[in-house]
Amino acid sequence: MVSRRQFLRGNFKSSQTPQRPPWALAEALFISACSRCGDCVPVCPTRIIVIVRGFPEVDFKRGECTFCGACAAACKDYALLDSETQIWPWAIKAQVASNCLPNRGVECRVCGDHCPVAAIRFSPRLGGPPQANVDPAVCNGCGACVAPCPVAAISVV
Ligand code: SF4
Ligand code: SF4
Ligand code: SF4
Repeated sequence: MVSRRQFLRGNFKSSQTPQRPPWALAEALFISACSRCGDCVPVCPTRIIVIVRGFPEVDFKRGECTFCGACAAACKDYALLDSETQIWPWAIKAQVASNCLPNRGVECRVCGDHCPVAAIRFSPRLGGPPQANVDPAVCNGCGACVAPCPVAAISVV
């Protein structure tokens, strides 16, 4: 069930929907509101906003979102709602794919070392190195774990 707030805010999206910058309106409303000015791109301190087919998207392979709010503040079309509303910007969470190194018997905790909120726990198990597990209740979808993973096993969706 998607609440009206989730619908308007874009906190509910299908996996096919591009990842818009934080605080984006729901996809259809975003496409309608965004004038493709590109003003959100240069203000991002971590340079994760890129233009794809005219519209801005977040690319976590380039870095993380610090939730600084600069992109929302730069958007004069109100396609990104003001971060000062204190509404959480998105509902995306990190997911670890099966090619994660510990699944192949190789010790690795790189993602956990980069997570700013300690959302990735390493569960001990018999016969192999500890497995990476994301706690969805803690993960804020910042994407800081994506780029450092040596085998590109993490997506944030
Ligand atoms: S909140 Fe800040 S770090 Fe995150 S995408 Fe916007 S400008 Fe970049
Ligand atoms: S950094 Fe990548 S390979 Fe290493 S534990 Fe995390 S998800 Fe697995
Ligand atoms: S997306 Fe951010 S908060 Fe979530 S597990 Fe990765 S680094 Fe941690």
